Parts: sequence; C-alpha cells; structure tokens
Amino acid sequence: MIKKNIRNGIIGAGLTALILSGCSIDSTASTQKSSNDTSRHEEKAEQSAHKNDAQEKSKQQDQSNHKKNQEDKLQTSASGNKVTVVSNPKSNLVLVNKTHKLPDGYQPPDLTIPHVKFPYDGKYEKMHLRKPAADALEKMFNAAEKQGIILYAQSGYRSFDRQKAIFANNVQTQGKKQASIVSAQPGTSEHQTGLAMDITSQDAGFKLEQDFGDTKEGKWVAQHCADYGFIIRYPKGKDKEKITGYEYEPWHLRYVGTKAAKYIMAHHITLEEYLAKK
Ligand SMILES: [Zn+2]
Repeated sequence: MIKKNIRNGIIGAGLTALILSGCSIDSTASTQKSSNDTSRHEEKAEQSAHKNDAQEKSKQQDQSNHKKNQEDKLQTSASGNKVTVVSNPKSNLVLVNKTHKLPDGYQPPDLTIPHVKFPYDGKYEKMHLRKPAADALEKMFNAAEKQGIILYAQSGYRSFDRQKAIFANNVQTQGKKQASIVSAQPGTSEHQTGLAMDITSQDAGFKLEQDFGDTKEGKWVAQHCADYGFIIRYPKGKDKEKITGYEYEPWHLRYVGTKAAKYIMAHHITLEEYLAKK
C-alpha cells in the first residue's frame, strides 16, 4: 500500500516509508512517453536519509566492513551521523550509501549517454553513465531485445552540484533537520557515481516501482544482469534492507564489473557483504 501512496505523492508513516528509494530526486523536466507521474515519484522517493534502527545497524556494519581502509576519512553529516568519505570514488566497486559518501565535488571522469531507449525525449544529465557502465548497459539491452525484452533507461547520473542544490533548497525551505530526512546528503546517492541506472519497461508503465520485479522484463534483468556486470543493488528482504539501508528496488542497477556481479547475484548478497568478504 505504501507503494501506491508513493505514486500518489502521499508518504505513509512507518519504517518501510523511511528507508525508501536510493534513487532519490531527479526532477529534471522531461516529457514521459506515457502520461504517468514518474518524476513526481522520484521526488517523493527522495525520502532517504531518515535515521532509524535499521540504518543504525547498517551503519555499524558498514563501518566495521570499512575499517580496513585507512585512507577513508570520517565526517559528520548535517544529521549528525558519522559518514565515511570514500577514497576510491572511481573504482567500479566504490561503496556509496548512507554512511559512505563520495568526496565533495566528485565528478566521474568518463560520462557518456548510452545508446539505449529512454522513456522520454530530449537530452538530460540523468541519461549519462560512466563509459564502462554505459557500454555494458548497451550490451545488456541489446541482448534483452533479441529475446523480446524491451528495456528503457530512466535515470542514471546525478551531479554532486545538483544533489547539493536540492539539499540546500530543502534546508532553506524546511530546515536542516527536515532536509536530512527528506533528501539525500550530497555525496551519498549512488547515482552520483555514474555507475547506477534505474531501468523500467512499458509493462511497468515506465515507473520505478517494485512491481517491475514481477514483470517479464524485471525477471529477465534479475536473471541476466550479472553477465553484463550489473547487480540489483537493493535486493528484497528485511535482512538485506537492514544492510543496504534501502527497500527492495528491482529497477536500480549498479555496475560493479562481471566478476563481482556474478558472485554477488549468485550468492544473493549485497555489495556491502561482498566488500566485507574481500
Ligand atoms: Zn536508482
């Protein structure tokens, strides 16, 4: 039911609503090919930086996972949480979550627009991915199409400045505390790495919703994405949500390279767990 509420722009109370989407805001004006309210969903999906027990546990785990990396620096976020600044932002395996952020102003080096279908016309920042991820996405979409599975890329890269502006705007209009509840801190959105893309399909109404996982396109992606170096970054299950800090997002693909992707998907683990094993 919460899912429906999100679609209607009304966030219900409760834990599930508090650990919503890692996809967060990208309200870049774009005309959807269908008359849906995807962009509104994306704005509401920004509800991400909320502090709760699950995230506290996730934070503790993340921090212990990452202790070995001594170059990482600790910072205190606007909400008072300890946030580690990652030292390997350009790595395919970079960990970005609510407690691991990209360095201020980080810009991915090799952004490009993949030659794939988008459910809107025009050219936008969010169409970009880093080159290796873009190449892999093209290969995956082409392979899918040969099997009658038509995929669309919805939202990829988001710049640090854009995320910062969104956050600053929320601070101004809602205050610092509320801003950190309703929007992702700059640097903590995986979309800023240029390695994440939200994908969708016509069957899913070009929306970013959990129903996508039940469509034939969503099932194909879950089965084959690792062959192209992608993982379902926020897998299903309360145990996984506690680790990632996010609800199940069958649409949010993260490029990590084929070796890591095959291991992660075959063993049904998260990127956090994979990095802890390394
Ligand atoms: Zn996403």
